[in-house]
This record gives sequence, C-alpha cells and structure tokens, in this order.
Amino acid sequence: MKTKSLAFTLTCLLSCLAVPVLACCPPPQPPCYRCEDGVWVWNCSSGQICCNGTCCSNTCCNNSGTCCSNVCCNGVCCAAGKICCNGTCCKSTCCISNTCCNGNCWDAGNAISGSISVQNAKLCEQKTHTSSISDNDHRIVCSSSSESFPSDSIVYSWSKTVGTNPGGSGTFIGPTNQASVTWQAPPCTGTVIIKLTADDVPDSMDDPCPGSTRNDAPKDFQGTSAVSLPAGCSNAGPHDSSVHWINPDDDYSSSTAPSLPRVGLFNNIYATTKDVDFKYQNCTWVCEISNVIAKDRILVRSPFSLLPDHVSVESASDVPCDEAEFAKFDLDDTDLTDDEGPPYCKYWCYTAAVVHEEKHRFDWRLFYEQKLTSAIAYLESSCQSSIDCGNPDTITCQAAESYWQLTIQQWFALAFTEAQGLMDNPDTTELNEAEQRAYEVQYEIDHPISAALPEGCTP
Ligand SMILES: [Zn+2]
Repeated sequence: MKTKSLAFTLTCLLSCLAVPVLACCPPPQPPCYRCEDGVWVWNCSSGQICCNGTCCSNTCCNNSGTCCSNVCCNGVCCAAGKICCNGTCCKSTCCISNTCCNGNCWDAGNAISGSISVQNAKLCEQKTHTSSISDNDHRIVCSSSSESFPSDSIVYSWSKTVGTNPGGSGTFIGPTNQASVTWQAPPCTGTVIIKLTADDVPDSMDDPCPGSTRNDAPKDFQGTSAVSLPAGCSNAGPHDSSVHWINPDDDYSSSTAPSLPRVGLFNNIYATTKDVDFKYQNCTWVCEISNVIAKDRILVRSPFSLLPDHVSVESASDVPCDEAEFAKFDLDDTDLTDDEGPPYCKYWCYTAAVVHEEKHRFDWRLFYEQKLTSAIAYLESSCQSSIDCGNPDTITCQAAESYWQLTIQQWFALAFTEAQGLMDNPDTTELNEAEQRAYEVQYEIDHPISAALPEGCTP
C-alpha cells in the first residue's frame, strides 16, 4: 500500500503539474477501481467481482483471495461438477434435501428395454415365444464421484389376447413368469396378440442416499402370432361334386366279344374314382368330394364279324324267303313280362342289340348317379371334424381325411349296391327287371321285323 500510495502521489503530482486543470481522485484508491476525471470508477467488467485486487469472472473468491474457477462455497472453491450444498461443496446429484450425501445415489437410469420374438404357428401347434429384456440402473458413488450402471433383475408376465382369431387366444403351457413362454395355438386361423409385461424387482441398493430409487416403470412388449393351416391344407370353397360319366372302352363293332350267342354286353363293374379333400371352414374340416368319375362300357358284336350260321338283319327284306318263318320266330319276343328276349338262334338285329345295351346304360346312369349324388351330399354335410387340439384325428386335414376315409368308401359302396337294387330288385329273384326293361325296348326294333315276316322276305 505504501508503494501504491507513493506511485499515486507521484502520478498526482505529475498530472497536477502537467495539466493543472484536471481534478485528482481522493485517496485512497479502492481495489479494482481506476481514477477518471477525479472519480473512482469500477475497473472490472460488469458482473465480475474483485478478489484481492483481481477481477474474478466467477462470483466469488476463496478465503485465500484467489478467484474460483468454478463455484465457491463458504470461502472454498468447489471442484468442477460440484455445487455448494448448504455450505459444503457437493456433487450436484448428491445434494439431496439441501444435505450433501456421502453414500450412493441411485436412479432408474435407462428404461427397461429389449425385444420379444413371437412365433407364428399352425393350428394347435406349440411354440415358444422368447424375450431379451434388460434394465440398467444408475449409481453415483458420492464419495468418489464414480458412476456405474448396474443391471437390475427382471420379472416377466406373459399374457395373450385375441386378435382376429375366432378360436380364442390359445393356451399357455407351463410358467408365464419366465423370459420365454410355451404356447399352444388355438384351433382356428387368425391372429393372437402375445404380450410380455417386463418390470424390475428392483434389486437392493447399498448405502443409498435419501430419495434414491432404482425402480423403473414396467414396460409392455407385444407381438402378433399368425395362426395358419397345416402344410397341404387349404380353405373350403366352390367345387364340382357332380358325377362325370366316361365310356372310353365302348366298342360297338367288336369282332370277337361278346361271345355268341350273346351279342351285346353292358358293363358297370368299374370302380368310381373321386377326389376326397378335407378343407378348412370355421375351425372345422369339411369334406369336399370332387372329380367324381364313373365309368361304364357297352360291347356289341359287329354284324360283319359273326360266327358261321349267324346273320344280322335290319328289316324283313334282309331275310331270304326260305328262312322267313324261322327268322320270324327267331326275332320274336313272345312274353314281355319275363326277362328273356327273342331266341336269336341264327337271326339277330344289330340295332336292337345296341338299343338293348343303351337301355341298360340309361338305367344304370339314372339310378347310380341318383344314389351317388345323394351319398356325396350326405358325406359332404356329415363328414366334418371340429378341430380340437386335444384330438389328434382333428388337427390336420390329412388326419381328418384318414378318420373319415372308411365311412366315405362305405357310402360309395352302398350307393353302388343300392343302384344295383334299382336295376334289378333283389327281392324278386325270379325276375331280372333290368333285362325285362332292356328287352322291352329291344322289342320295339325286333318286333316290326318279325311281324313283317314272312311276307316281307326276299325271295
Ligand atoms: Zn341285357
């Protein structure tokens, strides 16, 4: 101070001598002030303080008269990152209720995070949905200012709700409080929403500061499982269940068969083929029968390939007069109530034989198609398996088909037997009605020829 006072006095004397009009500032000079036009003015910036003659940018200086680079607290400069907590330099997060804590300050840190993996499934299929969840909390050791992010324990709670699935949300098998869960899909197609609610326990905190917590909010994770049909199965829909007749083996001009004296043959012994599928409809396997193909055959001996001593005639004029009476007898069916035709010992009529066999075909197709159609309708409405996850026969379309296979075969066999009964009533064994009807139409061709004889013969 003495040195400064002397310097000031010298300055004053010099300035007074050089510029006698300038006013002098009255001593003593306050620290951090300068003289200007005879008054002391603040020589630091606005907001600065004067610390032992030095301008301090921060608002305090310590007890030793040194500017604090951070905050000062009760005459002490606090280290970076600390605040003044009720007169004590303290890590900002450790100043709790205006008291600096020396334990561990906890907070929940990062929210519970992760993901779940929800599996798609076939009907009634068991799947395991998994999760990967973590929770890292935040701990500050106030005494050392070190930080860490310890992981917390997770509690799991799986739940499920119906999305679009009409069969419900399925069934959990085993515990639902683990990181993964086993689930059985419902017996219908559609979606199911699988949800995991993850929460922290939370674990214990060592020497926690007041107000510490590591309790996170629970978090929901959600996924959608699409339940679909088993491999090889499909939805029910329009299909053609009508009977289609084929006759690829017809032969109206056989050179050998049938052997005489038979001249025509109708054959219905072929197995009827069909496609049987079990299709999905409203949580049920329904029977669809399609591509039904029934086969029959007509075989007639060619009039040009007859054995010796056999003759086919189409009119009376085809008969030589010396055999007119014989031919008349040979072509005449004298009793239409029985199941026998004309003798046909030598003379026969090709056209009449064809008409006879066509009548058999007409009748058979009428009766068998009628029985087949009603059997198919019955089977399609009756052979249904409501899908039940507890019944293996119902879970796949293939299993349902196996289950009903025998029933379907039996109904097709029954349709054949019943059609045969309509062709030829088994209760009247003395009469073959099928032949009686065929000979009746054959008569329409044979009889006019026979009736025209002997007059119409050719001499
Ligand atoms: Zn016949």
